[in-house]
Amino acid sequence: MAADQAFVTLATNDRYAKGAMVLGQSLRNYKTTKRLVVLIGPHVADQCRSVLDSIFDEVCVVDVRDSGDTAHLALMKRPDLGVTFTKLHCWTLTQYSKCVFMDADTLVLSNIDELFEREELSAAPDPGWPDCFNSGVFVFRPSNETYQKLLTFSSENGSFDGGDQGVLNSFFNTWATEDISKHLPFIYNLSSIAIYTYLPAFKQYGHEAKVVHFLGKVKPWDYSYDPQTGEVRGHSMPPERHSDFLVLWWKLYATSVLPSLRLAYGETPFHTGCTENTAHAGMTDASAPTTPPALQMSSEERKERWEAGQADYMGDDSFTHIERKLDSFLK
Ligand code: UDP
Ligand code: MN
Repeated sequence: MAADQAFVTLATNDRYAKGAMVLGQSLRNYKTTKRLVVLIGPHVADQCRSVLDSIFDEVCVVDVRDSGDTAHLALMKRPDLGVTFTKLHCWTLTQYSKCVFMDADTLVLSNIDELFEREELSAAPDPGWPDCFNSGVFVFRPSNETYQKLLTFSSENGSFDGGDQGVLNSFFNTWATEDISKHLPFIYNLSSIAIYTYLPAFKQYGHEAKVVHFLGKVKPWDYSYDPQTGEVRGHSMPPERHSDFLVLWWKLYATSVLPSLRLAYGETPFHTGCTENTAHAGMTDASAPTTPPALQMSSEERKERWEAGQADYMGDDSFTHIERKLDSFLK
């Protein structure tokens, strides 16, 4: 057991906490020998914390607003970078010598411990601009010095995309050109977006994926699931329109995470996401949308979102849907 190496994820609220639970469970299922750490915001519900406690080795509450003067002052200058700053916090985990950060909206499909052979900063290309790395999965070395530098850098320069990915790409700005061993293969961060941007490649290589990343506005937990039929759907979505990865996420959630959540919540109602429960389960998570935002749009709106890089790759713009459309054109 490599006690000084860890997978690290982040959840500032209960919605992302569900993602972290599924991610942590998927790492356990593939028998990682590394430690599992989750950084959580102070507002994550106690029930969610206790489930996270059962999956992760370490649950660290982080709040950049009272985590030392530098972070606080930097945040006062750039309040727009709030969640981004929280992610940078992973560099403070100096009890570990090397870590792999993974977004809470990622899911592991095999053992990926070999990532620890890589150096800081290793990451996979972003599908939208492959000379930038995607910050959903990256190898790093915790260091207070790097953390301070990152804070200063981001408060002075901001982020060109408003998030952590912009900051990190500007800071580790030789990633694209300097050392090819820091380019992780795309299969370590397969954004579902790539399914339709290069469909033949997905058909050829998709089965080799080791990590899938549900990048974009609509997250797996925004859908609902019927455990009886194994169907995932948005409220206005026909049952056949979903991706296999999304079903995988829900299966893992329903079988391995939901039972623990039920125990933790007891009589207190909470948003399970499963259709059998919607009649009597209360909505305690105020941030959970009742209708996923991307599911009811005109084709004009959809085109605009697609062009803005916000395609609904699990719904209207999903693999099966696009395939059907192509088929109808070809006929
Ligand atoms: N995150 C969080 N709370 C938020 C937004 C983001 O905890 O309100 C964390 C979470 O780990 C998430 C990561 O920051 O996976 C990056 O955000 P997201 O995955 O939504 O961005 P995307 O990958 O879609 O660009
Ligand atoms: Mn993500």
